[in-house]
Amino acid sequence: MDYEPVIGLEVHIQLLTSSKLFCGCSTQFGAPPNSQTCAICLGLPGVLPVVNRRAVEYGMRLALATGCRILPECSFSRKNYFYPDLPKGYQITQYEKPLAKDGGLEICLDGGRKKRVRIERIQLEEDAGKSLHLEEGPTGGETFIDLNRCGIPLLEVVSYPDMRSPEEARIYLETLRQLVQWLEISDGDLEKGSFRCDVNVSLRPRGATKLGTRTEAKNLNSFKGVERTLRFEISRQHALLRSGKGVRQETLQWDARAQAALPARKKEEAYDYRYFPEPDLVHLQIGKKWIEQIRESLPELPSQRRERFMNQYGLRADDVRILVSTRQLADYYEGCLRLYNRPKIVANWIIRELLRELNQRRWGPEEFKVRPSDLVGLFRLIDQGVISERIAKEVFAQMVETGEKPKRIVEERGMVQVQDEREISSAIGEVLREEKENLAKYRAGKIGLFHYFVGQVMKKTRGKANPQLVNRVLKEKLGD
Ligand code: ADP
Ligand code: MG
Ligand code: ZN
Repeated sequence: MDYEPVIGLEVHIQLLTSSKLFCGCSTQFGAPPNSQTCAICLGLPGVLPVVNRRAVEYGMRLALATGCRILPECSFSRKNYFYPDLPKGYQITQYEKPLAKDGGLEICLDGGRKKRVRIERIQLEEDAGKSLHLEEGPTGGETFIDLNRCGIPLLEVVSYPDMRSPEEARIYLETLRQLVQWLEISDGDLEKGSFRCDVNVSLRPRGATKLGTRTEAKNLNSFKGVERTLRFEISRQHALLRSGKGVRQETLQWDARAQAALPARKKEEAYDYRYFPEPDLVHLQIGKKWIEQIRESLPELPSQRRERFMNQYGLRADDVRILVSTRQLADYYEGCLRLYNRPKIVANWIIRELLRELNQRRWGPEEFKVRPSDLVGLFRLIDQGVISERIAKEVFAQMVETGEKPKRIVEERGMVQVQDEREISSAIGEVLREEKENLAKYRAGKIGLFHYFVGQVMKKTRGKANPQLVNRVLKEKLGD
């Protein structure tokens, strides 16, 4: 029988607020362990949490950007479980009434096909602390606990089981990550753990509508890890189903040593969280006016921008996808166009030259110092014939390296294009003297050597000769 994978994702996104969800503690990353805690996030008796308004607004931004319905009233619940990094003994999350429901995210699959993955709910919750397990230590194995992360605001985004392959799951995650960065509500940094997900997967006979039994792998923090876990789990379930054994619903964990997804401890799956309403927090009422304020503050979204770039500038879908990969890059592109309205030339330059220079250096947008006006300055030097395109690429590399203006680099390093006919003529003379044999072959009819001579002249002038001029003068000299 032919089976089809069914995948649903729960993504946890750390919000970029400066303070925690229910107290004033800082959320700064990398602080000394346990230096950013207080009575509230440690859950000492007698303290009261207060919701961070900014965190709610960030949640609303994502909700609106994904077409979710923001509920007029949402509430918080306690999810009870014991774990050393959870001092309160419960996590404050949303259960019965989440912040928002029923939206979706359009993803672009390889080959250009589009697909909508529905979002079931978006909810606010607090993060737990972090346990550091050291395998070696005076007593054999030790565990350290850092509670700085306790109470840091997260959004949980729960998808419907709409994805059908590990690739689709990866693309959904990439699209969601791009969106939260675009909305400036999260840094989406996988390495820092700002973007983690639980993957749920089951198989069912192709064409069936009923869902199969699923397994869940928790807390994955890389796209590769997600794809790898899913591929493993799909083939494991496939083997079970083919041999007539059923799949057992359980929680799995990727085991690096075994290179396999293995069952997590039984104790954890058997857990009953005993959700109940959080008595210390009032229900949140989100009025229409507030929603409209947030809606108006949203930037043009990636999908809208892609559409506009194609229509307005006549660019190809592939190029647009690259230009709109981050908001900074898309803004940069349009910043250039405001000064130099030749969309295709600017797009090509950014995609080929600019991104190549950045990738080579492994730089992010912060490290890139060339302003749009300087890049446009470089285009003008080409248009004016001061430098050739080839030289422009060298100048650009220097601009990226030093942040200097193109004109200055060209002048300082004597990169100005040679326009002087006499200078070019003398370079041609030298080349022809050095190339006696080839010249004889050329005269004997091997006219393809013309391009070779041009190349040699360019080399002699270190690429600075104006190529049109070289062509003309060389033709004259050869008496063509
Ligand atoms: P839980 O509360 O245990 O996390 P949910 O019903 O909320 O379970 O579902 C969690 C995630 O699992 C959702 O993203 C959902 O789409 C996905 N999911 C649910 N059932 C299945 C299934 N049979 N196969 C694959 N994914 C599933
Ligand atoms: Mg779950
Ligand atoms: Zn605190």
